[in-house]
Amino acid sequence: MELCVMMLLRVYYYPLFFFFGSYGALLVLGEWIPNHFAASPVFSMLGETSYKFAPWLGAGLLLVAVMWALYSSYRLWRWYLGHGDICYECGGITDFKVGKYGAYYKCLACGRNHRDY
Ligand SMILES: [Zn+2]
Repeated sequence: MELCVMMLLRVYYYPLFFFFGSYGALLVLGEWIPNHFAASPVFSMLGETSYKFAPWLGAGLLLVAVMWALYSSYRLWRWYLGHGDICYECGGITDFKVGKYGAYYKCLACGRNHRDY
């Protein structure tokens, strides 16, 4: 796979995760749990509570996805302008991480790790 496509997938991985997570939360909390617990006299209250809570959780996760996507787009824009930390092997965007051996940069295009100097 081309490096630029891989970088885009890695940059927008978490926004896509939260976007589809919001849809999944709406389906599970708004449809599946209320439908399965509606007949039960003990758990029907759980279904009603789940039905009321589902839009708030879905909207919250969608808001997180949008904000994270905006931040990722900002990082891509800065990378396009030549600002920020870039990989010295391929020129891709790097993420700053702290592992068990110390701080390092992980390239989002080629996937290689570089030491923090
Ligand atoms: Zn790289």
